[in-house]
Amino acid sequence: MINMTTPLVEMDGDEMTRILWQMIKDELILPYIDLKTEYYDLGLEHRNETDDQVTIDSAEATKRLGVAVKCATITPNAARMDEYKLKSMWKSPNGTIRAALDGTVFRAPIVVKGIEPCVRNWKKPITLARHAYGDVYKNVEIRVPGAGKAELVYTGEDGTEVRETIQDFKGPGVVQGMHNTDASITSFAHACFKYAIDTKQDLWFSTKDTISKKYDHRFKDIFQDLYDNEYKDKFEEIGITYFYTLIDDAVARVMKSKGGFIWACKNYDGDVMSDMVSSAFGSLAMMTSVLVSPSGVYEYEAAHGTVQRHYYKHLAGEETSTNSVATIFAWTGALRKRGELDGIEELITYANDMERAVLWTIESGKMTKDLALITSLDNVTVLNSQEFIKEIRKTYDSIK
Ligand code: NAP
Ligand code: MG
Repeated sequence: MINMTTPLVEMDGDEMTRILWQMIKDELILPYIDLKTEYYDLGLEHRNETDDQVTIDSAEATKRLGVAVKCATITPNAARMDEYKLKSMWKSPNGTIRAALDGTVFRAPIVVKGIEPCVRNWKKPITLARHAYGDVYKNVEIRVPGAGKAELVYTGEDGTEVRETIQDFKGPGVVQGMHNTDASITSFAHACFKYAIDTKQDLWFSTKDTISKKYDHRFKDIFQDLYDNEYKDKFEEIGITYFYTLIDDAVARVMKSKGGFIWACKNYDGDVMSDMVSSAFGSLAMMTSVLVSPSGVYEYEAAHGTVQRHYYKHLAGEETSTNSVATIFAWTGALRKRGELDGIEELITYANDMERAVLWTIESGKMTKDLALITSLDNVTVLNSQEFIKEIRKTYDSIK
């Protein structure tokens, strides 16, 4: 039994991933680790009972303890209001936690032999960091009805005014206002530099500062200043680089690269590029996600949702073949980080071995249905949700 000193923040969730959560704990964690967690039930029923206070409490606990592992959760919509008889359409837990921690989300594919990326030269994972505040996601837009002048006006608290003409319209059109803040960009930059150091990977950052000479240029300057003043020495010491380039140049370089770096993107670029990178790597079920705060607090989870369709099959007593890999990696990521912070070598070894056991199990041809559909391996055995986890346990027992 491996002992822990500081508990993990455990955020339980919904539907099929809640079922997998328990299976993973029973088969892959509790037999090996004297697991210490502070448990928060973010299942929709309990969020509703507590008026979503449990989500806020779990975020506060994460700030206090430093490392959390989260199961996928339902973000309520109109259909869920009826299904769960909700008092209110509670906000997305991920949004609430991200806001509380002021965090940046890093998404990385789990690379395994037999599940080949569409881009042949990608040999290592590409981690995408998306700035999750402002720009077009907090815009103000006007549908211009006809001829007239559109202006950009800023009025300072002391009354000073800055005014720029956007366009003298001769006829109808559209106009848009966007913003970002130095504080948010700075947090984003800190999270990116810290995560690069943490994972010993190069950091790429790209904007369109040649065209956007003030807006995008501000992003470039904030990153560069922080790098020069706070992170350069550490980067050089561990042999990683910070690389800034224009977004279109970055796209071209990413496609030709071998992978193995972090790509930081502004909000919209990150939205588009994370879907491109994740689909090119094969499967959403093989994508991990970690929220990193500028103060260095970590929350690990799978990138996919609660796999609702499989859950209804499960409830109907039918067999499911749901892929638990990303959720297992959320646990191993969190346990490894706990091990690093608390100096528990056995916990780090456990996480490394368990991840290896997952990959070896798949490479030996034993996998869930979603992977069987896209694998390049022959002689594949499709396992159900439970069998797959039990098979991983067997592999782990044989290598640990
Ligand atoms: P989803 O849970 O990601 O599933 C969409 C489809 O992708 C599934 O029906 C399944 O395809 C496939 N899939 C995803 N994960 C899989 C896995 N682990 N193993 C096998 N197949 C997998 O997205 P959704 O069904 O659109 O959303 C369900 C709920 O999740 C929603 O209430 C949403 O709010 C929530 N959600 C939560 C998070 C989060 O907590 N981070 C993120 C996204 C969505 P097939 O049905 O074809 O097998
Ligand atoms: Mg998107």
